[in-house]
Amino acid sequence: KLQLSKKAESITPSATLKISAKAKEMKSRGINVISFGAGEPDFNTPDNIQDAAVKAMKEGKTGYTAASGIQELKKAICEKLKKDNNLDYKTENIIVSNGAKHSIYNALCAILNPGDEVIIPVPYWVSYPELIKLADGIPVKVETKEENSFKYSINDLNRALTSKTKAIILNSPSNPTGTVYNKKELEEIAEWAIKKDILVISDEIYEKLTYDNVKHISIASLNNMIKERTIVINGMSKAYAMTGWRIGYTAANKEIINLMSNIQSHTTSNPASISQYASLEGLIGDQEVVNKMKLQFEKRRNYMVDKINSINRLYCKKPKGAFYIMANFSKIKGKTIKGTKINTSLDFVNSLLDKAQVAVIPGIAFGADDYIRLSYATSLENIKEGLNRIEELLNQIK
Ligand code: PLP
Repeated sequence: KLQLSKKAESITPSATLKISAKAKEMKSRGINVISFGAGEPDFNTPDNIQDAAVKAMKEGKTGYTAASGIQELKKAICEKLKKDNNLDYKTENIIVSNGAKHSIYNALCAILNPGDEVIIPVPYWVSYPELIKLADGIPVKVETKEENSFKYSINDLNRALTSKTKAIILNSPSNPTGTVYNKKELEEIAEWAIKKDILVISDEIYEKLTYDNVKHISIASLNNMIKERTIVINGMSKAYAMTGWRIGYTAANKEIINLMSNIQSHTTSNPASISQYASLEGLIGDQEVVNKMKLQFEKRRNYMVDKINSINRLYCKKPKGAFYIMANFSKIKGKTIKGTKINTSLDFVNSLLDKAQVAVIPGIAFGADDYIRLSYATSLENIKEGLNRIEELLNQIK
């Protein structure tokens, strides 16, 4: 047997992949599967952004750009950070990468030495632990509580802290929980990070998707001390329905950005030139399109939360952001659905797919086996039909 990379072999394949593959295979056989698996908006990229991409191509903006991104886009990002987040950065504090996932990976590569620990919350976004391992770090998973809306408490953080702790990842609004930290909670975390000399990677990719008039706050905006040790991650994917264009960006102190730029220049070079011009239009163009999508998401969320809480043995919190719901199904554990005993989130998800033709993501993918994740980035019609199917199936549990 060939000796391959131990590091690469230690990377867990996505637990969601199997379920998605199975749902796809069923669909290809003509079975009407309703999917709540989506991690992306179900809207097309707005027209003005598409047009800007075509224009850029026609104008010949199709060659390499500066590895860290075009200056115009960096300027627009600085203006966005000022306007939306009250953050002052210069273009030298910005790097544009191939999606926020790439931004996070570059940031981790820039700050970690082998064995350094990075604290992440459970439930966590699937890629955090693997990205940390790829960057030679050690993910330290901190259980958060549903009663605390799945937020870190300072006690939780103190328990996870060791002499090796280098950073924490803060994801607000969160995938998969939809939780949004308020100002006071952020102030406490900021104070802790400063006192303990810890960096904060603040993943703000869902910032535009908050509901009930809750406003996203960037932890970096609280004061200069926390700004100096925060790496702000954001991108175009979720707010502008641009997942396929692959544009994410980072704002941080110059030393970190320089290291990230150096890494990026030798690995991927610049993100796609056309996507960068499209993103420029996204940021400086009409923002009403973002609002329109958000209103749709909010309507769907309201329906979904009420319906889930009306279904026997399922319940969920009302998340304040992103487009996911974590539904607690622990009352179903140990029960039998049409002849199948349910012990784990994978058992439950397989039963939903086999017996109700509904695809959801098992909580185990996020380290939380009492839950399933349902995305509401799908039409209200699908949501109604899918939840009705789940309800009917669960009504058959004795
Ligand atoms: N961060 C979180 C929490 C996400 O859910 C995602 C996408 O699912 C990303 C980052 C990465 O987004 P992208 O690489 O498309 O910018």
